[in-house]
Amino acid sequence: MKNANRRDFIKKASILSLQAGIISKSNFLILSKNSNKPVILGGEKTILPNQWVKWPIWDSENDEKILLDVMRSGVWSRAKTVSLFEEKWANLIGSKRCLTVVNGTNALIIALNQSKIQAGDEVIVTPYTFIATIQAILANGAIPIFVDVDPTTFQMDPTKIEAKISQRTKAIMPVHILGLPCDMPRIMEVAKKHQLIVIEDACQAPLAAINHQHVGTFGKAGCFSFQNSKNIAIGEGGAIISNDEAFMDACYSFHNLGLPYGIATGSISAGSQIQGNKLRFSEYQAAIGLAQLSRLEEQTAKRNENANYLTSLLKSIDGIHTVRLYPDVTRAAYHLYPFRYDPNAFKGLSRAQFLQALDAEGVPCSGGYTSLNTQPFLKQTFESSNFKKMYSSNELNYTSYMENNQCPLNNQLCNEAVWFTQNLLLGTKNDMELIDQAIQRIHAHADQIKKKLK
Ligand SMILES: *Cc1c(COP(=O)(O)O)cnc(C)c1O
Repeated sequence: MKNANRRDFIKKASILSLQAGIISKSNFLILSKNSNKPVILGGEKTILPNQWVKWPIWDSENDEKILLDVMRSGVWSRAKTVSLFEEKWANLIGSKRCLTVVNGTNALIIALNQSKIQAGDEVIVTPYTFIATIQAILANGAIPIFVDVDPTTFQMDPTKIEAKISQRTKAIMPVHILGLPCDMPRIMEVAKKHQLIVIEDACQAPLAAINHQHVGTFGKAGCFSFQNSKNIAIGEGGAIISNDEAFMDACYSFHNLGLPYGIATGSISAGSQIQGNKLRFSEYQAAIGLAQLSRLEEQTAKRNENANYLTSLLKSIDGIHTVRLYPDVTRAAYHLYPFRYDPNAFKGLSRAQFLQALDAEGVPCSGGYTSLNTQPFLKQTFESSNFKKMYSSNELNYTSYMENNQCPLNNQLCNEAVWFTQNLLLGTKNDMELIDQAIQRIHAHADQIKKKLK
């Protein structure tokens, strides 16, 4: 076999074995004499890092026909492939309508914009999220109001929302962060009571469900991302779903330069009805999306199976606090697998040192988000001439804003969190056991590792 062919063969074989759920033989524990010694102390790796499932997954043989058909047709701007993807996404999540857009960030911006959230409005949101959630609020001239997290679930604490509601509160933006559902029944209760709009940021949570209802369908609208790291990887892309026909018509219009809903892409003679932007999804993105869609259900099932198994293993390690799902969660999306790390149970080994040691074992990991409500962009926005024209100087008093928006539990969570990316959960049961063993090793040698890394 020529080298290139051979690589191709290995690639194909690994994709096939992934699809068939066959155990990857290479992920074996190296049973040397030193098998329990951490890598940092001269032991062998627990797991070979290049054996994790590569992301994104692409199956040339089965995925490329639809993409090539699109490319060869020469119809690359929004047309029937985009419509087909939208129809499938709406059906899959359980919504009347879907509109695809360029990315998740703009899905959020449009959904807020067409919910008439604008200058003078406050939007209640979690500080434990990807920056785009907050940027979407600011892009519409509104002000984010932060509700602290429940560190056991990593989500916005629903019991703390009401205290943050003011005359100006217009919406709540629950973010199903890490692909784990927020407590939507309670959030919806608060929203109903105070007549607030709910826009769900479900960018990390396709197919996550509460009482078998998919997240993204609880509020007025749900937003998704198809960025490359997300559970549906298209490179870039996003979607809004809703049952509200007039709202979806308006979102469509906004994403197409304000041209009326229903006219063909490019028919500019119809005249623009509203202020808009140009944020259309393209045919080849939809083609890639259709290919990715064919695997989503199976991958989601696998992520859940492996995450639940890993949780059952890690629960017994002192100092590893596995995540709590709300009682009515019937499925999570596990875009990330999180836990909280307590250095006290690891002889004072800091989280940074723990991450370094775990990475050395061959388990890719990170500490996740840093506290975003303390980052400079908020101050910069408050000082912008746009905001100064929209708000009084009193309203833009950054010091008092910061005082009112402190989230001490979130700061703590940002210091304690450890994340694995979702592709680790596409491995085998044995892979989960190896992750557990790697952490056990570090736990058993925490003292020595700490000395060594000093
Ligand atoms: C990825 C993400 C977004 C933004 O989506 P993009 O497609 O990257 O623009 C928004 N919110 C959350 C929670 C995300 O994870």
